[in-house]
Amino acid sequence: MHVLILGGTAEARALAGLLHPHTRVTSSLAGRVANPRLPEGEVRIGGFGGPDGLARWIAEHGVDRVIDATHPFAERISFNAARAAATAHVPLLALRRPGWVPAEGDDWREAGSLEEAAAALDGLGGRVFLTTGRMGLAVFARCPQWFLVRSVDAPEPPMPARTEVLLDRGPFTLEGERELLRRHRIDVLVTKDSGAAATAPKLRAAREAGVPVVVVRRPPVPQGVETAASPQEAAAWALGRTEL
Ligand code: NAP
Repeated sequence: MHVLILGGTAEARALAGLLHPHTRVTSSLAGRVANPRLPEGEVRIGGFGGPDGLARWIAEHGVDRVIDATHPFAERISFNAARAAATAHVPLLALRRPGWVPAEGDDWREAGSLEEAAAALDGLGGRVFLTTGRMGLAVFARCPQWFLVRSVDAPEPPMPARTEVLLDRGPFTLEGERELLRRHRIDVLVTKDSGAAATAPKLRAAREAGVPVVVVRRPPVPQGVETAASPQEAAAWALGRTEL
């Protein structure tokens, strides 16, 4: 049995750790992060060359099952995985951690895209904490506000004219997030609904500080693709068991 995990998330790493060494597992990373945390088992890095390239890779490497454990906002690779799995006739599962749910006292504004998030900033204050990653920064380039941009690797222009970059990667602590909001006098937080525990403390810190949060909604999982909510559930699926 050879399981291909499309990764780049903490859940994908946890899943590889659950499957290795019980079964052969290869984790695939896009290669966006300069110094990624590597999962257990085999690792390959870089794009496949679209759905056809992925289907070829699956066939050539004797892959029996594919688990799409990419970030909920990595839309293209999820679509490619659905196409490739159908072409190569291998079962596909999407591992998607549940999204965040607002709690009492939260002031959330939903946005359907980064563009909508940029538009939603109007009237919410001049100091923005942007945690949507370095890739979509161009969308905010014309915004007049001051931005604190937190990302794993340094972002490249175009980006807002008034930007301070904070290079860091989760997990983040509640105390750290409180301090960050205070020190930078943040008026509004922008986040994707990644649902990750490692980055959730910013939401509680924002609630406590009365800071509104613009939450970018997730794109849907490709039609017809089965989903699992946890690495344990996905590992059980890969091993053909009802539970791990
Ligand atoms: P994307 O837009 O869905 O994918 C763009 C292209 O990158 C794909 O067509 C594919 O190239 C390649 N790719 C993406 N994930 C890959 C993987 N796991 N293995 C091999 N190739 C991959 O993806 P993205 O939003 O740029 O995200 C890239 C990676 O970063 C993902 O693996 C994701 O899990 C991780 N990540 C993304 C976010 C986010 O907010 N989007 C946040 C944290 C981590 P080919 O067509 O050439 O195969």
